Amino acid sequence: MSAFIDARTVAEGAVLEPDLAIVGGGPAGISMALRLAHTPVRMVLLESGGMSFDAKVQQLYDGAETGAPYLPLDSSRVRYLGGGTNLWGGWCRPMDAIEFEQRDWMPHSGWPTERRTLTPYYPAAQSLCEAGPWLYEQAEKWPADQAPVIALGEGGVATRWFQFSQMRGSFLPTHFGERYADDLRHIPNLATYLHANVTRLALAPGGGALDRLDVATLSGRHFTVKPKCAVLALGAVETARLMLASNDVMPAGVGNESDNVGRYFADHPIPRDIATLVLFAGKPASFYPQNQLIQGAVMRAGLFPSEHYRRSKQVMDCSITVEDETTLDDLGKAALAETAAALGVDAGSASIHSLGGGCEVTPDPERRLVLTRERDALGMPKLKLQMRIADADFAHFRDTLKELGRQLLASRAGMLRLNRKERGEWLAALDWGNHHMGTTRMSADPKTGVVDADLKVHGVANLYVAGSSVYPSYGAVNPTLSLVALALRLADHLKGKLG
Ligand SMILES: Cc1cc2nc3c(=O)[nH]c(=O)nc-3n(C[C@H](O)[C@H](O)[C@H](O)COP(=O)(O)OP(=O)(O)OC[C@H]3O[C@@H](n4cnc5c(N)ncnc54)[C@H](O)[C@@H]3O)c2cc1C
Repeated sequence: MSAFIDARTVAEGAVLEPDLAIVGGGPAGISMALRLAHTPVRMVLLESGGMSFDAKVQQLYDGAETGAPYLPLDSSRVRYLGGGTNLWGGWCRPMDAIEFEQRDWMPHSGWPTERRTLTPYYPAAQSLCEAGPWLYEQAEKWPADQAPVIALGEGGVATRWFQFSQMRGSFLPTHFGERYADDLRHIPNLATYLHANVTRLALAPGGGALDRLDVATLSGRHFTVKPKCAVLALGAVETARLMLASNDVMPAGVGNESDNVGRYFADHPIPRDIATLVLFAGKPASFYPQNQLIQGAVMRAGLFPSEHYRRSKQVMDCSITVEDETTLDDLGKAALAETAAALGVDAGSASIHSLGGGCEVTPDPERRLVLTRERDALGMPKLKLQMRIADADFAHFRDTLKELGRQLLASRAGMLRLNRKERGEWLAALDWGNHHMGTTRMSADPKTGVVDADLKVHGVANLYVAGSSVYPSYGAVNPTLSLVALALRLADHLKGKLG
């Protein structure tokens, strides 16, 4: 095999019979193909787009929305080789153990697997993301020759670190398609088909196994892939769409007997200017508001609630970032003068910064994707997103901000003004991470999810899902590093089965 094939040149009605079909050439699909290179597993990678942006292909992502304001479905993802990484910001951070736990204060939370099952795969994921040496934890023991972290003393919030993907020979984050195209071309046991849209998962009679994938091109070509096993790596929105739309054998769609496909959609709300930070002694170290090269990694500091704090106070996760410098109004200036006097500190050179950040959302079955009657250029039903966001999600974020304010005062380092109280104020300041998650959630019990702990679709013997659609609960950090780690774990699992 090897090399890239333009699916528009494949003979009409052709049938391919690989061991493994990977559907979708984003970071999940590409990472799996790279991991299975030079193994006996004969693979095809089916990618809808080509090597660059094409408006007609991107149009296939069009959909509708109701409910809370959200990003248009065709502008929060990218449909060509490399997927979302063609646009991503490259923010990386692994998930904490608590994210995998069932948390009593968060309905529907908990993974059927533990953080330690991902731990061995994080170094390889970090390397594929080109996020530098693994310093996330090491940098918490901060070297004395660096500028100091903000003195917060004892409490629930502490400085922790993001690392950034940086593509070899570039200042941009790693675009997986561009970066790994040559590697994919040279994998002898892989054929990559570009412009190949999977339009249907055809189940065998009875629905217990996948029989074949129907593939179509925008030029009107059709062919079939009959793999021993297939992995859906189309991103959290499109994977759910394909499963729901493939409803000829199982009327509710593939893997949807318990009506979970498309439900629990999630993203990270990124509210702007959530609080104003005053540091009495002057500006924070430059690694708070900016990325900085430290010990060979591009890093940025954030303020995070500790796992202990989250457990003991029963709050959800968030990350707080120090943003641009700002000014205080007259009320703020008076509060600063009074607070400094009461604490006996000199605030003559105080610095003032706006705070931003991201927060975890409660898994919500009613925040969901459903099919509509409208069809795209390939005849696939389009999606509608029913978006919701709970007041509780903002309240948890606010609790952590209050804890940060308490610590700043207790350590006499600074003070905080909270800028968002009512729901309307949070919503007015809201941006989103473009981190689609949750629509094919992982569960031990088929009634409460779509895939099992090995990422196999419940009830379908040879169909798997890779990507953040399998996250049952989400944490607050960017999802790609962890979804690449999960994809590598799945590749090893399939190597054992197919190799
Ligand atoms: C603006 C932006 C900024 C982001 N910033 C960050 C960040 O800083 N950090 C972070 O961790 N994450 C970030 N993300 C999210 C990140 O891009 C995603 O988590 C990641 O790309 C998901 O990987 P995936 O492989 O699961 O899916 P995708 O990247 O969505 O890839 C899916 C692939 O499947 C293909 N496909 C779709 N439908 C079909 C079909 N029917 N047949 C065949 N192929 C199909 C698509 O063309 C695409 O190549 C950002 C995303 C965006 C849009």
